[in-house]
Amino acid sequence: MKKFFNIIISIVMLVLFTGVAKCNEKPSATDENNLVSEVMTSERQQNATPQAILDDLMAGNQRYLDNQLTNRDFPAQVKATTSGQYPKAIILSCVDSRVPVEMAFDQGVGDVFVARVAGNAENEDILGSIEYAVGVAGSKLIMVLGHESCGAVKSAIDKLDVGSANVDHLLGQIEPAIEMVEGERNSKDKTYVSNVIHTNVNVTVEDIKKRSQIVNQMVADGKVDVVGAYYSLKDGKVTLVEKN
Ligand SMILES: [Zn+2]
Repeated sequence: MKKFFNIIISIVMLVLFTGVAKCNEKPSATDENNLVSEVMTSERQQNATPQAILDDLMAGNQRYLDNQLTNRDFPAQVKATTSGQYPKAIILSCVDSRVPVEMAFDQGVGDVFVARVAGNAENEDILGSIEYAVGVAGSKLIMVLGHESCGAVKSAIDKLDVGSANVDHLLGQIEPAIEMVEGERNSKDKTYVSNVIHTNVNVTVEDIKKRSQIVNQMVADGKVDVVGAYYSLKDGKVTLVEKN
């Protein structure tokens, strides 16, 4: 009888132990509600390559398309990032409300820097922000994100004049891309507009490398990469823009 009980106890212990072991296999990043509380750390940032970070962003965009965004414990992430941040990338986007950058890549608190300016062109402040991101804060990827049917690009094509030097300056930043694209200057021509948007992304990517010695050197050393991307307003899909 005692032997029988011993066997039963052994089986119970085995089941319990297996159960515990199974529990431990759960990522430590999730709590009992299966919410992700993990944030970027210095170690994770240092160990990641520019390509791995690009893959991570594109996988996040696929989750966004599939309506499978990560469930996050935002208060926990806020708390975990209070004393520091180790973002994996800086994304330069247009200000367009239909391009929700963190959501579109399924990123949480402390994951990415986001610089936004209408028409996603670089200026001194944006370049300074990018240099801070990669040179000081350790980010490994710079992404320039243009988007379909960009109002800033269309306004630049139309030479919109609202009597503001600020708007003139902003739209002037897109002019070099317009001049590079063949065809009639027509904001109603979707193919032409798309070509200008893609060219503007490429121009910005190249200008960032040309105008920033810090970025240029880090790219040459393989520490950082600069990529162009395009966000579709129709479905939210991000595609990489081929380099010229
Ligand atoms: Zn735009």
